[in-house]
Amino acid sequence: REAEAWEARFEPARTRDGHRVEVASNLGNTAHAADAVERGAEGVGLLRTEFVFMAHAEMPGLETQIGEYREALDALDGRPLVARTLDVGGDKPLPYWPVPQESNPFLGLRGIRLALTKPEVLETQLKALLMAAAPSAEPKRDARPLRIMLPMVKDVAEFRAARAILDRLFEEIPAGERSDDVQLGVMIEVPSSALLASTLAAEVDFFSVGTNDLTQYTLAIDRDHPELSAQADGLHPSVLRLIEMTVAAAHAEGKWVGVCGELASDATAVPVLVGLGVDELSVSARQVPLVKARLREFDLEEARAQATLALAQATGEAVRDALEAR
Ligand code: PEP
Ligand code: MG
Repeated sequence: REAEAWEARFEPARTRDGHRVEVASNLGNTAHAADAVERGAEGVGLLRTEFVFMAHAEMPGLETQIGEYREALDALDGRPLVARTLDVGGDKPLPYWPVPQESNPFLGLRGIRLALTKPEVLETQLKALLMAAAPSAEPKRDARPLRIMLPMVKDVAEFRAARAILDRLFEEIPAGERSDDVQLGVMIEVPSSALLASTLAAEVDFFSVGTNDLTQYTLAIDRDHPELSAQADGLHPSVLRLIEMTVAAAHAEGKWVGVCGELASDATAVPVLVGLGVDELSVSARQVPLVKARLREFDLEEARAQATLALAQATGEAVRDALEAR
């Protein structure tokens, strides 16, 4: 079966009845974008740019960042790049950006909250992304599709603060020196933003659900806890209800929704996510052919039935039992 999945890896991912779901790759290292394409990825659904920063001994400047992002965009050759802005703090410290000792780092200065304390860092990163995706004359190339995604957003105020920086850059940088195919979206990984998805959906261009953190914060279980993490299941009905709300809010505004957490490559979860209406799944490069193959095994009606069944359960364990029995 793995051989069959590999053979079909460049075919677009569709359910048995032809419902299209995009399958993209998560990426930590921009040098691995070519490998993701070779494995059939239809784009990058999550570039964890903090790894670009962690690979440098000091804060990478504009030119260094442009070089990094361009490497990924070149390899993608016109496929979309969803680049998440710097997501440090919490479990991911950055040596040259010390944050005060916190008793609960996961509930502290991390993600967009931390980034907005030094807006000049966010500004340089956004500028580098816009410029890396610019059209070029030699070799002749159109502007590349760039999707910028903000981590750990809890409400629309944080989105607006980042949007204001991006809008100003868009005015400042001449049209030929930046991409004009740009979307700005947010990760849904804090329950607050799922609950407020309808207010966010009116302003963002897209959502991508980070099920790793969304599960951690919904169930109040540390995602790395040695004893409890097994209970931190993204198929828990509480998490699924938040995803359902997110998709409904997005689609009501004509916006798309991806899932870029671990749940997107869970074979049991794939039909449930599709049934909930998710438009894109972003998974590790290795999983791309397998997730595409999984999508070809069911139709949309079955996916919707599985989503309904899962939503009706009372515990995460009950969801898995009910889906496996089916
Ligand atoms: C997530 O939280 O689900 C996610 C994709 O981001 P990260 O794992 O990098 O926190
Ligand atoms: Mg996260």
